[in-house]
Amino acid sequence: MIRLSSFAILFACVCLAGLPIAAAQEDPAVPEGRIETWTGKTVLVFTPHPDDDTFLCGGIMSILAANGNKVIVVIYTNDNKGSLDLDMTRERLARIRRAEEEKACEILGIPKENIIWLGYEDGDLEYANPRVLRGEACRLMKKYQPDAVFTIDPGTTHERWHKTDHRMAAFITKDAFIASEWHLYYPQHLLDEGLKPYHVPLAFYYYTEEPNYTVDITEIAETKVKASAAHVSQFEPSLSKYTPDMADETFEGIRQWALGLMKDGERYVERFRREEWP
Ligand SMILES: [Zn+2]
Repeated sequence: MIRLSSFAILFACVCLAGLPIAAAQEDPAVPEGRIETWTGKTVLVFTPHPDDDTFLCGGIMSILAANGNKVIVVIYTNDNKGSLDLDMTRERLARIRRAEEEKACEILGIPKENIIWLGYEDGDLEYANPRVLRGEACRLMKKYQPDAVFTIDPGTTHERWHKTDHRMAAFITKDAFIASEWHLYYPQHLLDEGLKPYHVPLAFYYYTEEPNYTVDITEIAETKVKASAAHVSQFEPSLSKYTPDMADETFEGIRQWALGLMKDGERYVERFRREEWP
């Protein structure tokens, strides 16, 4: 949760504290080519809530879509509790958050048909059955056979702390990599649906403290700003008293905040920890 007093922006969902400012090390050699140049590939983006993907990966998602790649967004929860509006209900908030995510994805060039909602209750992902949850993520990896997966960083030698939902999403998604390549973990995927085991070759982790891969998103920074601002109910004043409308002043505050997060000298960037999965 972040407060920017000058614009009174308050986030319901994202905890961006501790995000790295600078790359920890040089970008690794990438023999198959940098992902920004990919065409005709498939990428799965796993996100705990319908906004983390936009704020952390919106730039590369837009670039991938524009380059003719298939970008599929998998959203674990319906984000139906993050409101301070006492007149809000969970059902209504889930509908609002769904529409906002669809709008954000549309701005990024991703059709709503490419959004998969797993539908778990906001804040309760850790209380879902882990075996079932891992199986759902694993099944999607087998079904779509992504060339790369974007997900929250679970850490390398040490576990990376994240808030609830985020930490469950981080570990479950990574664990699903393993389950996906060993058919006996979830044999029903093959027996019932003909889904063969699949080895996820490459991961890009966001919310990382160990970035090793920087994507220059300068050309589409303003597009990402607009997609971020589509999450109206995540920002004040809609967070406290929902209105679908956004004042110009509020938009400008969000714009400055978003650009500030992306700024790297004279350019705008997103940073990830890239990991080849041997
Ligand atoms: Zn979140």
